[in-house]
Formats: sequence, structure tokens, C-alpha cells
Amino acid sequence: MQNSKKTWTFTLIAAALSFVNACVYPTVFIKWIIPLYAACVALFAFAAFFFFLVLFAAKGKEKPLIPALIGTAIYTALLLGVTPLVNNVIFGAVAPWGSVLANTTLNLVFWLVMTLKIRKLSNEPFVWKPLLCVLLVLAGSAVSVVTTLPNMKATGFIVLDNVKNYEERMDTIDIYENTMETALPQTEAYDMVISHLKAPLPEGKTEKKVLVLGWDGCRADAMVMKDSRGAVDALLADGGKAYIAYCGGANYPEKITQQTATGMGWTTILTGKWADEHGIDGFGDVKTSRAPTFLTTAIEDGLADSAAFCYSWPNHEESYANDIAKSKEEGLNVAWNLSEGEEGGDDTADENTFKSAYDDLGRPDCSDIIFTIFEYCDYYGHTYGFWNDTPEYAEAFKKSNDKGLQLINAVKARPTYETEDWLILITSDHGGYVRGHGGETLMERMMFIVTNK
Ligand SMILES: [Zn+2]
Repeated sequence: MQNSKKTWTFTLIAAALSFVNACVYPTVFIKWIIPLYAACVALFAFAAFFFFLVLFAAKGKEKPLIPALIGTAIYTALLLGVTPLVNNVIFGAVAPWGSVLANTTLNLVFWLVMTLKIRKLSNEPFVWKPLLCVLLVLAGSAVSVVTTLPNMKATGFIVLDNVKNYEERMDTIDIYENTMETALPQTEAYDMVISHLKAPLPEGKTEKKVLVLGWDGCRADAMVMKDSRGAVDALLADGGKAYIAYCGGANYPEKITQQTATGMGWTTILTGKWADEHGIDGFGDVKTSRAPTFLTTAIEDGLADSAAFCYSWPNHEESYANDIAKSKEEGLNVAWNLSEGEEGGDDTADENTFKSAYDDLGRPDCSDIIFTIFEYCDYYGHTYGFWNDTPEYAEAFKKSNDKGLQLINAVKARPTYETEDWLILITSDHGGYVRGHGGETLMERMMFIVTNK
């Protein structure tokens, strides 16, 4: 490989492979298409192998294959290692943008060093070949960086989930009573439940009842999927209303003051307070006993006789430890029904949550308040991406609706339905962005409240 032509042919192939890969890689990474991601890593490794092979041959090594393979292994380990390091350790799993940028920088440095080193070793008299390589490298990286910017105006080539697309999508949803500018605080879900329980019984009704269908990680713009909206449309057909709401603290639309995450979100809905008062500010926090959930206070205040909390995320048990203890000590009729089933992985846990609520509704004297949380959207969002273009997320929204509709129909099928005054709410704890949530973006911050009244 001493001759210049062969050297530069290989180097150009390596640069071209890297270039194409660099353009595709961020989209693959962000949408988390696992087989394509694996293909990209393999292609990067292949390109690195070419670079190393040429480098060691140019250095005059008789057997450049082995050092090239070792170099490739080190490079691949770095490429794979940088991702979790940057994402989890440095950015705290905020978003994969950091990983994409870190990997791009790693590749940029690698390609430049390789190209320039090979140029030096091969005594290339002309400047255009290494220059072409450098340009390819820079162009690939530029595409890579630009396509990962959250607010990039998407091109036809790569359509990303970004704020502009989100706003446009929200504008096309005609079921909401309000706009993002007039979004309701998440605490409104609590107020709706309490107001319903406190309001006088309408003519002919003898009992107040509440069913909350909580959809963990369901984005407000998921409502664009009209064909999957069974439960939501059922409530609207009964004269209900749908509202855009926000989580993340009272400081909307300015910076969030609590994470757009699960523990905080459901606790805000259950207590009517934000994290500064309810005390759940981080993973594993226990809610303060000064901010009890309406599951216990409604019974203490005589607004309801019984409540059931049907869920599968085991951390809720930690979060509401003092409410659980209080219901036991004071003999409050609250059932804390943790569903069995593998966390994520399959739908068993959600099916058990459904069954727990469904069986309750089938009893003549069902719980006065039934609060269910389905994990479908959250689980499939974390695994495949939180947006409607991800088929698994779209399917999760449909499953939430299908199960929700069955529960709504179970309410209506009750023999005593005519004499019961039901409030049915559908709501979520937070949205999601890429494969996570917790941050500032509108996609994470907006949620919704749908009522049957
Ligand atoms: Zn959640």
C-alpha cells in the first residue's frame, strides 16, 4: 500500500463511509431505531478500520492488519462508551443530543487526525485529496450537528420532532377548549375532582363517584391520532371537554420549577400542589404528610367512603408511604393496588391494573374514587421514542384508549349508573421528548385533562 493512489483510494472510501454515516446517524440515534443504529456503528467501525489500515501501511508496517484491528476495536469501544457516559453521567439522561454531539466531536477529531497523518506519511504531493477528505469530514459533521438541533426546521430528508412541528400539530387538534397560551395548571385536575365531590348531587342522583384514567407519559399532541381516540371521544360525546394543561411547576411558560416527570406529576394531580409543597422533587422522594392525596382526604372530609389506587410503578408505594400508613392506621378505606407484572417489557402490568379497576367497577358497591395509571405510553416512549411517528408510541396511545373505553363502558353498564353522579377524567403526568422526559421542552411540559362534564 505504499503507492499514493492506493492509499488515497482507501482513505477516500473511509471518509465517504464516515460522511454518509455521519449524516444518517443522529436521526437513527434520536429515533432509536436499534437495527439501523447497530448498522451505523458497524459502518463507523468499518471506516475506522480502513483509516487504520492505510495509516499502518503508510507507516511501513509489514502486517498492518493486526494493529488496524486493534485500533478499530479501541475506536469502537470509545464510540459505544461515550454514549452512555455523556448521556447518563454528564447530562443525567436529559436527552441524547449531548451524546450525538460528543460522538460527532469524537469522529471529527478522529477523521481529521487520520487524514492529516496519512497525508504526512504518504508524502502526498498534491493537496486536493486530503483536502477532499477533510471537507467530507467537516460536511458530515455539520449535517450531523445541524440535524440534532431541537428547533431545526426539518428538511424533507430528515423530519425531526421539534418545537415548531409540535406547535403546528397542536394547532390542528380541534378538541381542545383552550390554547397553549391559556393552558391550565396540572393542579386543575385535583380541583376538578374536589369540586365534583363537593358539588350538590344533581336531581335523581344519590352518590358521587370519580374515575381517573391516568396515562403516564402521554403527550398532549397524541390527540392528533383521531382513529385511536376511543376513550377521549367517548367522554367528549357525553358533553365532556378537553383542555391543554401544563406540568413542571406554576412558572409556566417560563422555566420549570419541578421536573416533568412521573413522581412529581401524579403527586401534583393527587394533592393539587407543586413540588415545593408536596415534597417530591427527585426520584425516590417521599411525599410530605402535609400534602395528603385526595384519596385519603376525600374520605376524611366525608366526601367519599372509599378509594382505590390501581398502578404498577412500584415507586408510587414509596412516594405515598405516609398516605398508605395513614390509611392503615386510621382504617381509611383506600385500596393501594400495586399490579403485578414485569415493569415494562410486556403489557402484563397494565392489563392487571385494568383488571383491578374493571373488577372494582363490577362490584355493586364499587370504590367511590378509582384512580388508575397505565404505563403504556411511558414505557413505549422510553423504549422507542415519545412521538406519534413512532409506531410503538402510537400503538401505546391506542391501547390506553381501548382499555380506558372499556372502563368507561363498565361505568355505564353499572345497574346503579342512573343514580350515580360520575366524574371521569383522563389526564397524564408529563409528555415526552425523544426517549425521555423531565426537561423544559413543550413536548415534555404540555399534558391534558379530558372530562366527561
Ligand atoms: Zn411518567
